[in-house]
Amino acid sequence: MTGRFANIIVDISHEKVDRPFQYIIPDDLKNDICVGKTVLIPFGKGNKLIKGYVMEITDKAEFDISRLKYIASVLNDSMSAQSDMLKLAWWIKNNYGSTMITALKTVLPVKQKMKQVVKKTIVCKVDSKEAVKRSTEFDSKHQKAKARLMRELADNRIIPQTLVTNKLNISSPTIKSLEHAGLIEVIEEDIYRNSIPKFASDNDNVPDTWNKKILSKEQQKIVDQIEQDFDNGIYKTYLLHGITGSGKTEVYMELIDKVISKGKQAIVLIPEIALTYQTLIRFYKKFGDRVSVMNSKLSMGEKSDQFVRATRGEIDIMIGPRSALFTPFENLGLVIIDEEHESSYKSDAMPKYHARDVAEELCKLKNASLLLGSATPSLESYYRANKGDIKLFELKNRLAGGKLPKVYIEDLREELKSGNRSIFSRHLHELLEDRLKKGEQSMLFLNRRGYAGFVSCRSCGYVMKCPHCDVSLSEHTDSFRRTSRLVCHYCGYETGAVSLCPECGSKYILGFRAGTQQIEELLQREFPTARILRMDADTTKNKDSYQEILSKFANEEADILVGTQMIVKGHDFSKVTLVGILAADMSLHASDYRAGERTFQLLTQAAGRAGRGVLEGEVVIQTYQPDNYAITYAAAQDYKGFYSEEIAYRELMMYPPVAQMMAVLIMSEADIVVKEHAQNIADTIKECFKEQRPQVIGPSEAAIGKINDIYRRVVYIKHRDYDVLVNIKDKIENMITELEWNKESIQIDFNPINNY
Ligand code: ADP
Ligand code: ZN
Ligand code: ZN
Repeated sequence: MTGRFANIIVDISHEKVDRPFQYIIPDDLKNDICVGKTVLIPFGKGNKLIKGYVMEITDKAEFDISRLKYIASVLNDSMSAQSDMLKLAWWIKNNYGSTMITALKTVLPVKQKMKQVVKKTIVCKVDSKEAVKRSTEFDSKHQKAKARLMRELADNRIIPQTLVTNKLNISSPTIKSLEHAGLIEVIEEDIYRNSIPKFASDNDNVPDTWNKKILSKEQQKIVDQIEQDFDNGIYKTYLLHGITGSGKTEVYMELIDKVISKGKQAIVLIPEIALTYQTLIRFYKKFGDRVSVMNSKLSMGEKSDQFVRATRGEIDIMIGPRSALFTPFENLGLVIIDEEHESSYKSDAMPKYHARDVAEELCKLKNASLLLGSATPSLESYYRANKGDIKLFELKNRLAGGKLPKVYIEDLREELKSGNRSIFSRHLHELLEDRLKKGEQSMLFLNRRGYAGFVSCRSCGYVMKCPHCDVSLSEHTDSFRRTSRLVCHYCGYETGAVSLCPECGSKYILGFRAGTQQIEELLQREFPTARILRMDADTTKNKDSYQEILSKFANEEADILVGTQMIVKGHDFSKVTLVGILAADMSLHASDYRAGERTFQLLTQAAGRAGRGVLEGEVVIQTYQPDNYAITYAAAQDYKGFYSEEIAYRELMMYPPVAQMMAVLIMSEADIVVKEHAQNIADTIKECFKEQRPQVIGPSEAAIGKINDIYRRVVYIKHRDYDVLVNIKDKIENMITELEWNKESIQIDFNPINNY
């Protein structure tokens, strides 16, 4: 690309500078500058040097040339963006609402090229005889170190420098001097920080079932169709609905193989939590060094190396959560999103993009295919498949044997009526006992974290709340000292436990105890001989603890694994024949329209953990709402039944995916400001979009009305047409600029997955 001028986005996230600025490219930088490069430019009155990204190079001056400034320099240690990624950033900015620079930073998750690790090797330049001769000479000159190295090199012609300096105790000046004399050569080689954990690349005892398989007819048909489309230049989105264990991953790997053989690359998105070593080993065994992995635990250096390797074409496959989508492959051919229904694919920071939608846009830009896979597809994707927007494939049977488990629903109200006050229903208790006797494993799943229980007064109903946030405090008990504290999960506020109700003085103010820690303790009391492992946010704080717990359980070092959602994902335990879901309806109480969908997904996934091996599995779902359709359909493992009931509800209520929804969250320290702005937004939208008639709900206090002393109000807007919502978003952004509101105080979220 040639041109005298560069249009540059500056590295300042503010509405006022959210547009390209034009600069002159100095002659001496002509060859270095291209679209996507990071540069330093003088900016503003003081001509302070700041960073910017080149968006466009042109010969057309937008202003009087005499007023244009010159680019100061090129930052070569910064990752440069591919032009497709710039287009993608532009799309993100327009569709989710953010400044261009924030969108750019999203598509450039690795901004800095980190210095590479260099490996030095010492090579002998003379033959062995000569080396021995030289070492004798050095000896006679009392040059002991040189003699030692030459002797070593006579035997081993090539030695890593670390060995020479550490083991042989030879200094760098000595090495330099030998190199100078032409006796040795030091070879430097860039090496990459490997992102595949050691346990994955080292592990050789892979189950036989992971060796190369012949795909089943159903699997092969899917691969063939996608490949055929691909070869015909048709790049589409596909949804693969297949129960856990039906062979989806095998389909992914076969497709990736095909795509690579055509000289293209693939990205596989997996929810971080499902990124277990089992998955990694499978990919690693099949594709070896051509696979790389991203995850949030990697250091900046490790991340940077993986992107550099991708740029240089040294890898073909990137596996990872959301941000792996922005891997700078030259020739992307395929994106796979496994467990596409997972809420972690939605970004929780601005811009609040959904990886599924961004992936689709990316595939359009790159001429790549997109395959979504899940045992419990999101309503969004299934709805589109039903309308014929995307192609649906189904896998209905488990391949490696293993039948679907038997599922029982236990009504907790009945338990209480019959005098069972335990957290375990009689049936679950019985089955746990049975498994312990038989030496089989069980998993108990709780939809909550720690002692997340709130503290309330049994006399007057008063609930202990955080003074800064409008949420209830959670009781945390120290397992050694038996003291408890009340903690706010939003702002970290802490206070001691209370013994008397601040409202009525009653001493019956108690925590609602149903945390994983509590269950572990109760379990131990009821089954004193059982070996129990617990997995939740508290026990997995350390880097490797998640993996350690899973390995212990896989090695049968425990009988029962108790945990939160973490335990329902991705891992195969063939000895697990019982899954207990302790409080199935917890997630139904969340007051948002996705509560049913989320509950159904969780229960189905959890139930799918039982009976993965040859032994048949059983599942007990404990609930206070045994008739709720999310629970009954999950028990029946009936996705379609659930879907038709749920979509009817969304249709009735005009909720996504039937209609599109946008949440506008307004925040401020001053309650009155929040109220005014929220009202202003709601009124303006109603007025300006009279013709399109969007449904405007609110403003109302957000579900959590105050966090950290910041008041929160929310306006929900619904419309069948996404573009109308985008126009409304643009209008709100204009209001922010024109009325000089603080930009940070307003957040826009399209098709939100949480309640505000
Ligand atoms: P999913 O990703 O749908 O959970 P997987 O691809 O992990 O399913 O397959 C489940 C099990 O079935 C794995 O152990 C896998 O090795 C095995 N499997 C998959 N496809 C085949 C096949 N064509 N022949 C034999 N075994 C298979
Ligand atoms: Zn009280
Ligand atoms: Zn708080």
